[in-house]
Amino acid sequence: MSRIGIMGGTFNPPHNGHVHAAQQAVEALHFDRLLLIPDNIPPHKVMPKGSASSEQRMEMTRRMAKLIPGAEASDLELKRGGRSFTADTLRRLTVENPGSKLYFIMGTDMLLTLDKWREPETICALAALAVIARDEKDRAAIAQKAAWLHETWQAQIEMIDCPALPVSSTQVREDRSVCRNMVPPEIFAYIEQQGLYF
Ligand code: ATP
Repeated sequence: MSRIGIMGGTFNPPHNGHVHAAQQAVEALHFDRLLLIPDNIPPHKVMPKGSASSEQRMEMTRRMAKLIPGAEASDLELKRGGRSFTADTLRRLTVENPGSKLYFIMGTDMLLTLDKWREPETICALAALAVIARDEKDRAAIAQKAAWLHETWQAQIEMIDCPALPVSSTQVREDRSVCRNMVPPEIFAYIEQQGLYF
């Protein structure tokens, strides 16, 4: 049975925390493929003024994919349009990949809010969750939420045991020197070339 890792995000821009999370998940769970899927309209946050366009986020996600063996950037959510609900994406990937096991990769910040997403029961039914620490706090709250998701929706949760790399796209967009240090050089070069963020 082939194993497909899926990482959704706004990727505005992709940063070393995304790369680290994806690499750790690949190493722990041995995916045959890893799909990086930029969202069209994120359901849970407002895109700030001065954000990269969809095309620019897609191009930066392509550059991120080149850094991780087996990874590919997918425009599935951009093409579908509208708000990007993970449940819709997983339904589509289930139909397109019969007999594959899907793993949805997320940071612990997302695990803590998963019960508020659209159709969390569908997400838990269609994919196992590969969860990466985003900071070192909240361990008790995360363990409690994982247990609750398992009891409530039979979520299969793979906690990936690795040190956190605490960085966010928000921090990267706000400070050019953080951006230079925390974004892969191929993506930083694109940000500079396109005159993004600063
Ligand atoms: P923003 O600051 O704009 O809200 P973000 O840095 O949270 O963005 P997203 O593209 O929204 O990045 O995140 C996509 C996915 O990557 C989410 O599952 C998120 O938890 C995970 N992720 C982002 N940064 C990290 C990190 N530093 N460590 C682990 N996972 C991360």
